[in-house]
Amino acid sequence: MAERMLKFTTVERTTPPKRSAATRSGDFHEIYADFIDAKAREQASRCSQCGIPFCQTHCPLHNNIPDWLRMTAEGRLEEAYQLSQATNSMPEICGRICPQDRLCEGSCTIEQSGHGTVTIGAVERYLTDKAWEEGWVRPLVPGRDQGKSVGIIGAGPAGLSAAERLREMGYAVTVYDRHDRAGGLLIYGIPSFKLEKDVVMRRTQRLADGGVEFQLNFEVGLDATLDELRETHHSVLIATGVYADRDLVVPGAGAAGVTPALDYLIASNRAGLGDDVPEYASGQLHAQGRDVVVVGGGDTAMDCVRTAVRQGAKSVTCLYRRDRANMPGSAREVAHAEEEGVVFEWLAAPRAVLGEAGMATGVRAARMRLGAPDATGRAAPEEIVGADFEAPADLVIKALGFDPEDLPRGLAAPDLAVSRWGTVKADFRTLMTNLPGVFAAGDIARGASLVVWAIKDGRDAADAIHRYLTEPARVAAE
Ligand code: FAD
Ligand code: SF4
Ligand code: SF4
Repeated sequence: MAERMLKFTTVERTTPPKRSAATRSGDFHEIYADFIDAKAREQASRCSQCGIPFCQTHCPLHNNIPDWLRMTAEGRLEEAYQLSQATNSMPEICGRICPQDRLCEGSCTIEQSGHGTVTIGAVERYLTDKAWEEGWVRPLVPGRDQGKSVGIIGAGPAGLSAAERLREMGYAVTVYDRHDRAGGLLIYGIPSFKLEKDVVMRRTQRLADGGVEFQLNFEVGLDATLDELRETHHSVLIATGVYADRDLVVPGAGAAGVTPALDYLIASNRAGLGDDVPEYASGQLHAQGRDVVVVGGGDTAMDCVRTAVRQGAKSVTCLYRRDRANMPGSAREVAHAEEEGVVFEWLAAPRAVLGEAGMATGVRAARMRLGAPDATGRAAPEEIVGADFEAPADLVIKALGFDPEDLPRGLAAPDLAVSRWGTVKADFRTLMTNLPGVFAAGDIARGASLVVWAIKDGRDAADAIHRYLTEPARVAAE
């Protein structure tokens, strides 16, 4: 083994080739090319096969990373793929969009010793893309019929991961989603330059081929109440994500040209999928030729600035009230955005949207400095008096994060218990809400988070539902 592994002292870390900023800024295709076989094997061989693999500990799914890296280095690709998919319902999606610098790769031991981290995410993506190409991804085969059905509200990664597992266990599964396509934020939030849509659609198609029923354009709360779903199914999973966008509360924020991030991204994603999107066609939700200011510093803000670049914006500026080191978005995404020409105004908070005749023309921002830590332990931004500046903007995108919608009202389920943040309360052992047989998973249970956590929650919820449906007395006693 040793001769094939531990190559981190002689082999440099390399990622798959990245397309040049000039080329990729003109289209919506993913920015990384595929690893060629030899490169994936070579990069996997850099792993030092740690006795205590911190990469695995810091992967929310506890993927068996060292073993599938070793198999990849040895050329045992199908086995490596089988091992990687045993713990992850969407390895090729995580390989593309997990913030690896904060998860598995950020904890890689060889990075601590001064050699670049193993490119875990790129190898994971390579293995599963290869598996799809080679036909190693097996059809979903339903388990022995359990004679029971589960209704899942929400076709995002949490709902889809639960659906897959429950179907494998032999349940009849119906997934309800208010959108016309399955995938949740994978399809309508995250832009295709990070995650091409056919990668998502082949996953949902596999579920449909395996007998998972999709009821799309179906809004629970409007088309049926939660109670009606509880009567139809033996158990229900709430996996509705979080969609109430935080507002920009400054003078002028009601001007035309000020828009929520998700409206902007959904329009762009829909247009990319070939839909007729009037607000996109009219230019209302299109950045071409415009000065764009995006307010916020998370993944959503990064997706907006990079979408605006690709739509041919005249200028793209990101305003964030803390500094680069304290921003919530992935450092890797910021680097991509900078290469693509985005201007970052760190330590800048909007004070007003400027306008003429009700149309936005710019943003006045206060310059900030970081002061003492606030209640959350993060350095609190403080205004520097007299240092305001203005940025031209006829499109201002609000990317300040998301909170849960009012779910008891939205699902017409007034008895559903929610936390003071609006997330659905679920017992931490049984994952069940206060309503018997109703479970919760993903962002709606943990607050806005990551795809990999939604997958983990969905898988756990499926196991919890199975336990509830097969051993109800034991679950009730817990
Ligand atoms: P969602 O993906 O939000 O899916 C919920 C689904 O429920 C939706 O399809 C919705 O239509 C449906 N729904 C809601 N209410 C109802 C109802 N009443 N009836 C029927 N259906 C309903 N994470 C990463 O790991 N990496 C990234 O790069 C990344 N980028 C992001 C970029 C953006 C712009 C955003 C907004 C988020 C990003 N995230 C990223 C976060 C990630 O997308 C979420 O954490 C993840 O999608 C949550 O999964 P979920 O299944 O809980 O919810
Ligand atoms: Fe890393 Fe995400 Fe893959 Fe886990 S799922 S190994 S965190 S890329
Ligand atoms: Fe390999 Fe890094 Fe994981 Fe160690 S921490 S097993 S070197 S990938």
